[in-house]
Amino acid sequence: MFTLETILRPHILSLTPYSSARDEYTGKEGIFLDANENALGSTTSTNYNRYPDPYQWAIKERLAPLKGVRPEQIFLGNGSDEPIDLLIRATCTPEKDSVLIMPPTYGMYEVSANINNVPLIKVPLTPDFQIDLPEVLAAIQPDTKLLFVCSPNNPTGNLIDRQSMLTLLEKFTGLVVVDEAYIDFADAGSMTALLDRYSNLVVLQTFSKAWGLAALRLGMCFASAALIRVLNKIKPPYNISAPTQELALEALSHVTQKEEMVAKLLAERAILTEHLRSLPLVQQVYPSDANFLLVRFDRPGGPDAKTVFDYLISRQVIVRDRSKVKLCEGCLRITVGTPHENSQLLDVLHQMMVPVQSYS
Ligand SMILES: *Cc1c(COP(=O)(O)O)cnc(C)c1O
Repeated sequence: MFTLETILRPHILSLTPYSSARDEYTGKEGIFLDANENALGSTTSTNYNRYPDPYQWAIKERLAPLKGVRPEQIFLGNGSDEPIDLLIRATCTPEKDSVLIMPPTYGMYEVSANINNVPLIKVPLTPDFQIDLPEVLAAIQPDTKLLFVCSPNNPTGNLIDRQSMLTLLEKFTGLVVVDEAYIDFADAGSMTALLDRYSNLVVLQTFSKAWGLAALRLGMCFASAALIRVLNKIKPPYNISAPTQELALEALSHVTQKEEMVAKLLAERAILTEHLRSLPLVQQVYPSDANFLLVRFDRPGGPDAKTVFDYLISRQVIVRDRSKVKLCEGCLRITVGTPHENSQLLDVLHQMMVPVQSYS
């Protein structure tokens, strides 16, 4: 059975967190001489001389109804990378406890485990990019603490079968972390709906993709209130800056604009898919539930993926080469761009097939 006590590292369980000035007095009015800030102001046109809310309550109050969770079930991080790292650090004793991932998938889970010197168990996805349940269940060790599932998966673009995730939530006694960075582009609801049913479920989302705020560095983590309290205990006290908090609040008051952008990108994804499929260079365009396409080149007699990649670069079109990644052999990952960018990509691919005669 899952309990927080059994999966947290013992010293984390008993840790006394840093108590910031803003923890000890939470009132808004007063003469603030408690945090060694510069009372005169800032060197910028807007004042940023005061430390921000360490728990970002204003954002969480807005986000909670949008996501169907309680504010206490939300953690905000400096990108999704921060909760990924904190989850590993909270649960895994280096060189002992392990993390399980299912490649091909997002690279940060492995990097973060490596940084923390935490053993990694890799169980490849099936050839149709789904969870290999029997293999995963067999690979789980008594000290496996975390299991990362990416749905829709990066770089393959597909949703992971919901029933497989439910089986893992039922059978695995550690945390099942479902990374939903691309969920806004998918034809499926979020796993956040199941948070009250599974105390071992963690859902990651981000402002970097559908919201168009990659430069802001703001990731969302949804989990039980008890686990969120643990993450709050071990995070850097002021991990989300005041400008980031202000811009996130602004973004949250423009939900319709986000949805309009998502609709446009989905329409573009369909058009781009169709055009790519008609190209003789292209062997396969995988169906996508994200804002990118996994495209297989390497057609017999045609140029291989690396050659296509290099040609695109030479024409200043930059895509992601995944051709050396297991199960993605011969594939490039292509982000859906603006209509103009997408048609330029297609133009360049056409030019690659029809070498222009030189006049010299
Ligand atoms: C892009 C992406 C993220 C977002 O990371 P941030 O640090 O929030 O920008 C998270 N997970 C996956 C799988 C991604 O592809």
